[in-house]
Amino acid sequence: MKRRNFIKTASITGVGLAIGSSLISCNDGISKESANQNEDAIVDTMRRPLVVATWHVKAATAKAMEILQTGGNALDAVEHGCKVEEANKKNQTVGNGGLPDRDGNVTLDASIMDKYGNCGSVMYLQNITHAVSVARKIMEDTPHVMLAGEGAKQFAVSKGFKSEDLLTESSKRAWEKWKIEAKYKPIINIENHDTIGMLAMDNNGDISGACTTSGLAYKLGGRVGDSAIIGSGLFIDNDIGGCVATGLGEAIVKTVGSFLVVELMRQGKSPQQACEDAIKRITNKPKSNFRDFQVGYVAMNKKGETGCYSIQKSFSITKFHNGTNEHIQSDYFNKS
Ligand code: ASP
Repeated sequence: MKRRNFIKTASITGVGLAIGSSLISCNDGISKESANQNEDAIVDTMRRPLVVATWHVKAATAKAMEILQTGGNALDAVEHGCKVEEANKKNQTVGNGGLPDRDGNVTLDASIMDKYGNCGSVMYLQNITHAVSVARKIMEDTPHVMLAGEGAKQFAVSKGFKSEDLLTESSKRAWEKWKIEAKYKPIINIENHDTIGMLAMDNNGDISGACTTSGLAYKLGGRVGDSAIIGSGLFIDNDIGGCVATGLGEAIVKTVGSFLVVELMRQGKSPQQACEDAIKRITNKPKSNFRDFQVGYVAMNKKGETGCYSIQKSFSITKFHNGTNEHIQSDYFNKS
């Protein structure tokens, strides 16, 4: 919808009428340029609140939107939205029920970032379902940004998180099947990544983001992916926007993907263009074997515009805005 049509449609609603009339009176005494700026600001405001997330995660985006619509902030929205998938034992790539590493250990990576640029991250975390909440506690209750492994687990337990076995029967069966061939290389099933990365903008126009994952299935013990690395799996700059990533973490880390997307938006690119350029940064590498793996980005700018792009077909996002919780297929690079 074009900006002016959007305003026209919106002005049918009560809010739109009120805004519309103040626009007309504003126009009387001010320059055309300022009037256009006002119009832009109104459109931006009408996009709020807004949630986007990687993959088909309508229950998670609905939870985040419920928080935003009841006056909650973007940070609470992304944390509680991500927790929905962490608790979902059927999701074998996040939290409880995640597929284990090659030794049978479920190890989680997560990060969170707020409107002030504060961040927390946890990596190689075992036995704690809500890694994203541990990341938030690290951000808020410690002078540090990252905690790893046993230290992270001890910290979580000291904060009241329950220690539990995260390896479900079905994930154990999948791992035992994998062990028959036990290929050293981690399996990259491009159809089945499911790290949840979420961005939210609240009614104040402030942006926060979070992501959480059990990482690549059957990875080497000790492996940490992009989701715990601030700037790779997640980056927020509340003046500009935010980005979250999913897919082969190693490729994302090598290009500091989410930071790159935000910096491209800072240079004036739209979220869509920034995601496309960041994907091309990976595929254009001289020895890139991009046909063998997936990476997907979803981004949001300060105006509440969003974009997404991936290397392979089948990446999708969930976007909750204007009362609609939509699952949207992403455009992608590898069309050969
Ligand atoms: N990005 C995650 C990782 O490399 C995996 C995923 O998105 O499924 O750990």
